[in-house]
Amino acid sequence: MTITERILEGDRLALARALTQIENQSPQGVDILDELYPHTGKAHILGITGPPGTGKSTLVNRLVLQLRQQSLDPGQPPPRIAVVAVDPSSPFSGGAILGDRIRMRDLAGDRGVFIRSMASRGALGGLARATGAFTQVLDAAGFDLILIETVGAGQAEVDVASAAHTTIVIDAPGLGDDVQANKAGILEIADILVVNKSDLPGAERTLHTLELALHMAQVSFQDGGLAPWETPVLATSALEGDGIGDLAAKVIAHRQYLIDSGEWKARQHVRAQMELRQELLAALWVDLLERAGEDRFELIVDEVAERRISPQQAIERMLEGPQG
Ligand code: GDP
Repeated sequence: MTITERILEGDRLALARALTQIENQSPQGVDILDELYPHTGKAHILGITGPPGTGKSTLVNRLVLQLRQQSLDPGQPPPRIAVVAVDPSSPFSGGAILGDRIRMRDLAGDRGVFIRSMASRGALGGLARATGAFTQVLDAAGFDLILIETVGAGQAEVDVASAAHTTIVIDAPGLGDDVQANKAGILEIADILVVNKSDLPGAERTLHTLELALHMAQVSFQDGGLAPWETPVLATSALEGDGIGDLAAKVIAHRQYLIDSGEWKARQHVRAQMELRQELLAALWVDLLERAGEDRFELIVDEVAERRISPQQAIERMLEGPQG
């Protein structure tokens, strides 16, 4: 059996190996992705983001336990769930980071759950690309729900989150939260907002601040004619297990909303378009450098830097090919 066939049959070892190949950007990884692609497109992808220390790992653990007791569609068995913990600061991968260890303890032995960390080394835009590739493999491997957990509120995390069907943004009291929440358009990408650590003092205020900010943002959303999903603001305590059932219910409700409104399909299209554009640009760039010659490109750069030709003239020369 090929590794692709084994993944499709649910072989976890083959799955783990494939993810490592992809992480290492090996040629075999690319082949695996090509072969698996026709089997993707079924999973519901959940992006979970927020500042460090808000309790994301603890909450994801609880949410997975909860969702394993429910079904996404009436009469169906509980969803098989994969968790990808993206750690932008770590150069290592595959090992158990702290959050994983917590999860391992509760989720170990459940064959319907698969957990994996992903280091975000590599080129700019590498994070979004690598996460996309991971998601495709897990999707093909038959996971119904894929949770992608990222730390922080940088552009890379926003990119990752916006590739998801449902984005959960987590906040907590005492983190200068109102400032953080407004950063990098984090409110705009949230389908569900969560104030975790609701057992701590100040949670009410954080909740209120977010509701207010969201209300103002939603007014402008409606002007833009966006679909009328009302982003809920939920209070949870991952520590005490409060509010987890409501969160799971909102996740399932948002999935249903996407399907009913046709947005699920629309998002697939937008994602395919974005992916293709990115890949095409990268491929065209390599192709252009090959045809025009890298040395020649450097010469033209010198000419522009020395103001002998304008950038526009340089572009015309590059597009003319080697003799131009
Ligand atoms: P992450 O960095 O966002 O993944 O946060 P962690 O899940 O690692 O949690 C950070 C710390 O907050 C840990 O010490 C958790 O035990 C604690 N924590 C998580 N959820 C809650 C909660 O609901 N209430 C309180 N009081 N502490 C929590």
